[in-house]
Amino acid sequence: MASEIKVTEDVVSCSDNGQHPLVYINLKSGRGQCQYCGQVFVRVEPESNPEDQQAA
Ligand SMILES: [Zn+2]
Repeated sequence: MASEIKVTEDVVSCSDNGQHPLVYINLKSGRGQCQYCGQVFVRVEPESNPEDQQAA
């Protein structure tokens, strides 16, 4: 059973390690699922951004 994969990209690609044609999945709505293998991708915010945390 596939689990959710967390990504920080708006678009991910999936080919299930070559088991099906490469497809791109749009995650702009927050999550998406591969139409071939059913893998679910969830878009998350980047955990840390060094340039964003500096108080200087
Ligand atoms: Zn897939």
